[in-house]
Amino acid sequence: MDLENLEKVLQAEPKYRLKQANEAVFKNFISDWSEATFFTKELRDKLNKECPLKIEADLLISEKEDSIKAKITLKDGFKIESVLMRHSDGRNTVCVSCQVGCPLGCLFCATGKMGFKRNLTTNEIVEQAIFFNRYLKKIGPSDRSREGLFHGVTNVTFMGMGEPFLNYDNVWGAVKIFNDYKYFNIGVRSISISTAGIIEGIKKLSEGLSREAGSRHAGHVNLAISLHAPNDKLRRELMPIDKKYPLQDVLKAVDEYIKETNRKVMFEYVLIKGVNDSDNNAKELAKIMDRKLYFVNLILYNKTPQTGQAGSFEPSDTKRVQAFRAILEKLKIRYTQRYRFGDDIQAACGQFATSK
Ligand code: SAH
Ligand code: SF4
Repeated sequence: MDLENLEKVLQAEPKYRLKQANEAVFKNFISDWSEATFFTKELRDKLNKECPLKIEADLLISEKEDSIKAKITLKDGFKIESVLMRHSDGRNTVCVSCQVGCPLGCLFCATGKMGFKRNLTTNEIVEQAIFFNRYLKKIGPSDRSREGLFHGVTNVTFMGMGEPFLNYDNVWGAVKIFNDYKYFNIGVRSISISTAGIIEGIKKLSEGLSREAGSRHAGHVNLAISLHAPNDKLRRELMPIDKKYPLQDVLKAVDEYIKETNRKVMFEYVLIKGVNDSDNNAKELAKIMDRKLYFVNLILYNKTPQTGQAGSFEPSDTKRVQAFRAILEKLKIRYTQRYRFGDDIQAACGQFATSK
């Protein structure tokens, strides 16, 4: 898909034509301009030539059909991954990528192992959700959707490839389009951004979405912090970015964010066998997480071919996870454990890696 020339192609047309074109793409999710029958045949042909809507992608569907991974090929040949997760309550969450690769190189992460290639544009981020909306439209209403209506993407998480706060402006541009009632109309509370702890980004995010054009549900999107260790010594080993942004500074920025927004913040903690899953780790974690509006999200480490080579990381075993949880419970820490979607198609967290 390439909309770079859209305004140019429609330059000679009345102004409302551009609005119609945008609505056709971002709201009605047409996949070919021939569907835009409100345009003349000539204009449709011209648009198909100069602003192609086709999204190149390979699909992988999990056995339970609740998660679908798309490997999308970009204009310059780079590939990115996004995943659609279909929840039993009818929600459809798309996990989007915001960079090709990631410069932060966390040891346990497949994307980090790829290195950094480039930032995605706003359109390339939005395109991922468009792809899945077209997909959902095509497969038609399923028994998961109410009253047989088309239910497209209802939630977006920035938890695919890349660090959102190292591509803030383009990520924010995408958030605005997702939120815009003229387009995706996804409420701020159904959009989540996960960061490895880039403080400038946390600060900027506290400004939130104002009620400017298109924003019906103004406010703050959800913030998640990738924590993964309860102290700098261990965190630094797993996440090199901790040297630049130490834990205490990140937590201070989060506290300011909470003071400003009064929103809860999710701390993600990947449980890796023998690395960060001891009783002591749990106690230390409880100590720093015992604050108002802090929530812990435990994630079982997903083994990936890429990260497998680097270390000998394994997911914590069930007994250890139970003991870890028991300590958090005893110390009254609010936590959840994330359900694993798409393990069989390498579509779970940290399993995003592509080659050109
Ligand atoms: N760069 C951002 C967002 C993308 S990563 C961040 O790090 O927050 C999305 C989530 O998946 C992060 O919490 C990340 O730490 C986690 N993750 C990475 N590799 C993983 C793995 N192998 N198993 C489980 N979770 C992983
Ligand atoms: Fe980048 Fe996030 Fe992976 Fe770390 S966990 S390498 S920040 S994508």
